[in-house]
Amino acid sequence: MKTLKFGGSSVEDAGKIRHVISIIKNEAGNGSLCVVCSAMKGVTDELIRAARLAEEGRPGYRALLERLEERLIRACEGLFPQGEREASFSPLFESCGELLDILHGVELVRECTPRSLDLIMSFGERLNCALIAGAMRSMGINARYVDARELIVTDERYGSARVDFTASCRNIRRRLGGALSGRAGAGGVIFIVTGFIAATSSGVTTTLGRNGSDYTAALCAAALDSQALEVWKDVDGVLSADPNIVRGAFVIDEVSYEEAMEMSFFGAEIIHPYTMGPVLEKNIPLRVKNTLNPSVPGTLIARDIGRHEWPITSIASIGNAALINVEGSGMQGTPGIASRVFAALAKADVNVIMISQASSEHSICIVIRAGEAKKALSALKAELAAETQARLIGNFAVMKDLEIVAIIGENMRGRPGISGELFSALGRAGVNVLAIAQGSSERNISFVVDGRDKVQAINTVHRAFFGAAGKRKSEAKLRTAGPKIAAPKKAARPKKAERGGVQ
Ligand code: ASP
Ligand code: MG
Repeated sequence: MKTLKFGGSSVEDAGKIRHVISIIKNEAGNGSLCVVCSAMKGVTDELIRAARLAEEGRPGYRALLERLEERLIRACEGLFPQGEREASFSPLFESCGELLDILHGVELVRECTPRSLDLIMSFGERLNCALIAGAMRSMGINARYVDARELIVTDERYGSARVDFTASCRNIRRRLGGALSGRAGAGGVIFIVTGFIAATSSGVTTTLGRNGSDYTAALCAAALDSQALEVWKDVDGVLSADPNIVRGAFVIDEVSYEEAMEMSFFGAEIIHPYTMGPVLEKNIPLRVKNTLNPSVPGTLIARDIGRHEWPITSIASIGNAALINVEGSGMQGTPGIASRVFAALAKADVNVIMISQASSEHSICIVIRAGEAKKALSALKAELAAETQARLIGNFAVMKDLEIVAIIGENMRGRPGISGELFSALGRAGVNVLAIAQGSSERNISFVVDGRDKVQAINTVHRAFFGAAGKRKSEAKLRTAGPKIAAPKKAARPKKAERGGVQ
């Protein structure tokens, strides 16, 4: 039994939904399936905008809701035969009415708490999955809509809730397991499960964090002991680098779970970072597939992957970073400074992306998002005020507009010369490196450069490690790319998708 997940751009309108339904039918044969879907592309953002407008007392949220309703009506028109349209739309219309009431409540109290926002966002997935399941039933497919709030149990961290794995798996097995384990045949059932949304143990709506539908799918796959998890997106697979930066970026055939985790934690939009946990534990192979180009095999993410010929697997980067350097003569040999630095940052809710400290212990360099630099700096100044006064710590140097670049890959482990190659290539290209970090897992070497050097740095590294092989692969890919389904006229396909990959 397989679990499939379709992202927002795969189910954004009637045409795309029809296409997805044909993929689902193909995958199911006569058997059963668990299918997790996101909200239509852009809807979650619109719901957040509506909530913000309502909170500010601006009636514009009503127009946004009307636009959403129109989008649903158009989808119903494209999915249901004439006689069934009204009946198909009435439950959706009811939900929209409920959403309007909630938004009006927000307008009245002029406050949208994270808890209310989760409830408002939940409508995106609920409406879309109810629509898809309804359309499938009207086509004679045994599809059942499942609200994931009845399956996935979380804590109360609204906006990005933590999942109770044991309770959630129990619920998923109890609700879906029986029907899915039935003999394949005419009775096969297809569950259409809302991604992204969940509930606390007392039933209050929560969400798993933006792009969390991947994680929902991984939880279902793990609980149901699926043979495979397929994540369908609008790109051909995981790429060697961002195709908007590197022209010769190509699809990587196979990636290990650990590599995929390194990449997603590193800002590559491959897959929600938490997705890997449940599938890794159950050793379920995950495949990234392209809805727009289903004949392409995509990228396999699994435990025992065939090793490829390159020393690295992928290059990822995070922009808009800032670096704070804490430096001073009193830091050397004084235990506890590092712990105080990180405790102060944690207390200020600053997420540290990269750390580097040389063994002279003269300085600690912390890389964070530029937007958090001010907060971080005042937290550090307050924490180390006494040391600064005593001249044990000197200046806190801050640099902004930086790019963190990482080379990622299992093949780097125990292989000498990789960092030599990396930094020699950057040196030859005249790129100045501001900080370096490598963990002892040896799967990731990260370095920081000025934002203006980003394109040069990433291209240099891509050429150094993938060289002509990368170029050949990307050319071969262009030649063999299968027929793509026509993109709808109005919604132009995003640039990234045209280039065929995620990063
Ligand atoms: N609809 C949600 C979002 O846009 C979840 C998802 O797409 O996975 O973040
Ligand atoms: Mg999404």
